[in-house]
Amino acid sequence: MLILLAEMGSGKRMSGYKFKCKDTGMKCDFEIKGASSKDEVMQEAAAHAKFAHKMDTIPPEMATKVSAAIKD
Ligand SMILES: [Zn+2]
Repeated sequence: MLILLAEMGSGKRMSGYKFKCKDTGMKCDFEIKGASSKDEVMQEAAAHAKFAHKMDTIPPEMATKVSAAIKD
């Protein structure tokens, strides 16, 4: 029981997807932490790119960079 609880606790700490804008090559300190899915990160990153980097649409190569920069 104690072991199970410990595993659940560490599992919870490990969960959450992370993304740093500078990992895509931008000089930008924007970060996403604790997203529940890659899709959520992509949506937040797209909204950030539109607002902060004036990208109305995300070019395919940028989407690839963002996807590669997402860590879980
Ligand atoms: Zn940025």
